[in-house]
Amino acid sequence: MPELPEVETVRRGLARTFVGRRIEAVWIGRPRSVRRTSAEEVILRLTGTAALAAERKGKYLLCPLDSGDVLMVHLRMSGQLLIDRFGSDRPLHTHVALRLADGNELRFVDPRTFGEVVVFDPSAEPTIVPDLMALGPDPITDELSLAELRRRLRSTRRAAKAVLLDQHFVAGIGNIYGDEILHRSGISPLRPANRISYVQSTRLHGAIHEVLTEAIDAGGSTLADAQYVDLMGEGGSFQESHRVYGRSGCPCLTCGRGRVVSGVVGGRTTSWCRVCQR
Ligand SMILES: [Zn+2]
Repeated sequence: MPELPEVETVRRGLARTFVGRRIEAVWIGRPRSVRRTSAEEVILRLTGTAALAAERKGKYLLCPLDSGDVLMVHLRMSGQLLIDRFGSDRPLHTHVALRLADGNELRFVDPRTFGEVVVFDPSAEPTIVPDLMALGPDPITDELSLAELRRRLRSTRRAAKAVLLDQHFVAGIGNIYGDEILHRSGISPLRPANRISYVQSTRLHGAIHEVLTEAIDAGGSTLADAQYVDLMGEGGSFQESHRVYGRSGCPCLTCGRGRVVSGVVGGRTTSWCRVCQR
């Protein structure tokens, strides 16, 4: 599933190729992708508008439109946004397509159909997108402070990995970056959040920022399934820098003494080194 670095890479692509281009026509092939409202409403609200900006909160892409509405896209498990010339063959599983005034077409492609495209009036946010309002701070755009992170960690006994995955705790981190951040911090994914020491929380705060920004610089992580690609269809390269994620059974690259182990933490398969993560 795309996490903060992948969604941020897509956001940057939207800023370059989508913002400012008028949407001339909207095609919806699969109503499930616009299930929060309806195909008719999405077509009505999008046609003739242009995005003023491309923003992101956690894993949510948000484009304020010149009509006053907001276009929201969540990629969930397998969603992709791709841009290509209008009239070129649409990829399999294209469910929404926006024809732009510059001759391009923005396509929402989603084999597993968990992703969604929503257009809403900001005053309707509490009813249409309550999940957006309940999100915790985005560690990059909201500049999560050390004091705020400490306050949040002290409030729960849940395992460190489980809280990092919780989008109400902090928005944007999923399974890949949760494992990589905890590894870089030297914190066991099993450690109760309220038992993370001051020194550990300082390292965690630094690692959240470092790992996510390095991954953004690398264009995100594209795994063997090649599910994640940017707007131009290009994969990222941060998977080459993964130290624990997907490396169960391999020697730890950090300490050289431990072996990467895996187990289920917070409902997700988690990989870590018992020697350098305490
Ligand atoms: Zn190690």
